[in-house]
Amino acid sequence: MTGVLADIIEVAREQVLERGEGLSQEQVLAVLQLPDEKLDDVLQLAHEVRMKWCGPEVEVEGIISLKTGGCPEDCHFCSQSGLFESPVRSAWIDIPSLVEAAKQTAKTGATEFCIVAAVRGPDKRLMSQVAAGIAAIRNEVDIQIACSLGMLTQEQVGELKAMGVHRYNHNLETSKSHFPNVVTTHSWEERWGTLQMVREAGMEVCCGGILGMGETLEQRAEFAANLAELEPDEVPLNFLNPRPGTPFGDLDVLEPNEALRAIAAFRLALPRTILRFAGGREITLGDLGAEKGILGGINAVIVGNYLTTLGRPAETDLDLLGELKMPIKALNDTL
Ligand code: SF4
Repeated sequence: MTGVLADIIEVAREQVLERGEGLSQEQVLAVLQLPDEKLDDVLQLAHEVRMKWCGPEVEVEGIISLKTGGCPEDCHFCSQSGLFESPVRSAWIDIPSLVEAAKQTAKTGATEFCIVAAVRGPDKRLMSQVAAGIAAIRNEVDIQIACSLGMLTQEQVGELKAMGVHRYNHNLETSKSHFPNVVTTHSWEERWGTLQMVREAGMEVCCGGILGMGETLEQRAEFAANLAELEPDEVPLNFLNPRPGTPFGDLDVLEPNEALRAIAAFRLALPRTILRFAGGREITLGDLGAEKGILGGINAVIVGNYLTTLGRPAETDLDLLGELKMPIKALNDTL
């Protein structure tokens, strides 16, 4: 290891904590390679960085699947692809159920409600369903609306903006160099193009991915650097929960310490972003994972389901935030 990286934690303390400048790809790699004895130190630093540059609030978001399963794409981790032997069948939810889910989400204190569809990109039917759903939610619920509908055309970006969509989620999923091993039906660059259009239209950009998909530590560091270049408002960090019937169904679950090192490393690469715990956390980190992560750089959680696998009940996470004395970010703070 070079002298500059000899004590990456000290370097990060000065560079990220004091000056707010995220770690470079090489520096992120050094964090990912830290021995277990240094794990608590780097989590502590990541927590200090989050507190200094983001504050103590935790953003809570709910998520609902408008259209589930039957997707034509082949993302190897995804049980919603119609190309694998996966149990998820294509299904739509109706508008009253959507409004009800938004109401329940708002009751938890969540400020963001994300409407998700398992598609390559939206067609006319999906766009009109989303428009009707957003209008119905707006009538009854005070919450910001996010969407995750796959790759967009410029016209669709404009339509979503006009509907008042506050934030758009589109994950790069993994590093540019590893992406072809994960998805073959579309390219990393296509995803990047959608994200640029979303940004230019003035919507907030939410972009993250999944760790533990066979990427090397170098590629994990590359992914953090890819995200730092994009500068998303929010990064949802998932850990692979290998789904039976998918090409990644037999991959091992990430070791807990490796997952925690990654959380700290991504926080140190992205000091100001909303870093959200998303799917796969329970299987990777167990019950203690929420606390370790929230004290190690995470500042947002998803309540309720994680689309295809059940997460913990909302109350468990919300109780934990109370115990840790971390306030839930209020809606008027985010407007
Ligand atoms: S990740 Fe999205 S685009 Fe890929 S198969 Fe799953 S639903 Fe389709």
